[in-house]
Amino acid sequence: MRPKYFAPKGTEDILPSVSHEWRFVESQWRAVCERYGYREIRTPIYEETELFRRGVGTETDIVSKEMFTFRDRGERDLALKPEGTAPVVRAYIEHGLYAQSPLQRLYYITPFFRDEDVQKGRYRQAHQMGAEIIGSAEPYADAELLSMLVYFFRTLGIPEDWFELHLNTMGCAECRPAYREAVQQFGRDHFDQLCETCQHRLEHNPLRILDCKVPTCRAITENAPRIDPFLCEPCRTHFERLQAILKALEVAYVRDYRLVRGLDYYTRTTFEVLAKGLGAQNALCGGGRYDGLVEQLGGNPTPALGVGIGLERTLMVLREVGAPLPEAPHPDLFIVAFGDSARLPALQLAESLRHAGFATDLDITGRSPKAQMRLANDSRATYALLLGEDELANQTVSVRNLQTREQETVAQSELTEWLNTRLPRS
Ligand SMILES: [Zn+2]
Ligand SMILES: [Zn+2]
Repeated sequence: MRPKYFAPKGTEDILPSVSHEWRFVESQWRAVCERYGYREIRTPIYEETELFRRGVGTETDIVSKEMFTFRDRGERDLALKPEGTAPVVRAYIEHGLYAQSPLQRLYYITPFFRDEDVQKGRYRQAHQMGAEIIGSAEPYADAELLSMLVYFFRTLGIPEDWFELHLNTMGCAECRPAYREAVQQFGRDHFDQLCETCQHRLEHNPLRILDCKVPTCRAITENAPRIDPFLCEPCRTHFERLQAILKALEVAYVRDYRLVRGLDYYTRTTFEVLAKGLGAQNALCGGGRYDGLVEQLGGNPTPALGVGIGLERTLMVLREVGAPLPEAPHPDLFIVAFGDSARLPALQLAESLRHAGFATDLDITGRSPKAQMRLANDSRATYALLLGEDELANQTVSVRNLQTREQETVAQSELTEWLNTRLPRS
């Protein structure tokens, strides 16, 4: 067949040959989050555009250049979600979740959308696993989240020396402006040596020159002012306490002065987990504290922090490091019908076994017994159940172990029990 329609540019079909790997990563994320007391939240695929303008910031690339926006028939400005945090905070305020408990640990798995340059290998629909802690200003919250992330990547089977937690502080509304100004002045002093993007950033988002990947920019900003002497007392104390708690929890990290993150809303703690050996695009996840965001989106002042983990990137790393990904699922049983008279009984048997909890496959295209046997072998089922004239007459079924080739006859009335002692329920 020659296809006439294709998945839109920058999107990807997740086919059955790999979807179980996606499910594996997602289920690990759910399991880890729930072990840490998080509950799942699901927000709509689109929101009012204004939410992201207020929440993410109009100076960010995400909002200024990359959002998919549209209007509904009521002339409302809407946008496909370009990130996960602002919608969660919107829902937290809208539904008064703070009234249920002053501390909310929320997690999600969501697609997000950015109108990105597909030429650079970027996706326009990508997927993110996220977690937010809303309602704690204590560094214990930061430390717990970071410890959970390291634990998550470990449970996925990524060797410890393959990833690295990078940590920084961005100060707050009190102390950051002076630092921002110092970096801006530094940038102006070295303006001619900066790349074009950095020259542009210098006016509106000067801290971003610190995380530019261009080697010449990196060499220059090696001598840029560092934030530590600019931190106000509460920010300094928070960061010191966080580092002490991380040490007590034995969570290893690298202090990374360049880690400023692209979004406007971060305060104090910022972090990324980097996969070594993936080149420039090596952040597995990133996040930080956003103590001003709840208030900025119309709620009461509420401290919060969160993380977003790239699902595509995580899978890429798992394949690269040869982590033990699960095999594609296969049926427990494959029923082979010998002759047309066995077809209906075969389907009836399949239905009763499925309802009893066994993953059961059979041919429903009318193939010969020989072709059905081939299908049974290819299916990687544990047992083939053979149903022919003799079996029908005696109310039995011939059960063949497809690995050992051993075969025995079992009464249909005892089949479920026979299988129960030999197969785990799916
Ligand atoms: Zn501060
Ligand atoms: Zn640059």
